[in-house]
Amino acid sequence: MKNITLKAGNEQNFFHRGKVLARLADAGQPIPIERTVSIESLPKFTEPAAKLWANVPAAIKKQLLANVWCGKCRHGVTITNFTGTVNAGDLLLVGVCAECRGDVARVIEMDA
Ligand SMILES: [Zn+2]
Repeated sequence: MKNITLKAGNEQNFFHRGKVLARLADAGQPIPIERTVSIESLPKFTEPAAKLWANVPAAIKKQLLANVWCGKCRHGVTITNFTGTVNAGDLLLVGVCAECRGDVARVIEMDA
């Protein structure tokens, strides 16, 4: 079991905090040492988006999530409670600003 399959049917359970790590452990995969895993534990992704996101290196994910422009705060903020969808081949993250709770979004361009 090398691939982690994400299915929409049970994503609510799947993405509960801690379950992702449990799945990794069940799959015999190394659990990332970085504590940044916690920021990925709640989002809901469509299946194609989850596959794209899975290919993004952890360090890049951390950078992306912590540098989302917020129009209200007028600076880069951390995106929280985000969802992932695929739009025209790019990964679109939509969530809320960690500081003002306003809506923020980030497009991650994917090289096909
Ligand atoms: Zn903000």
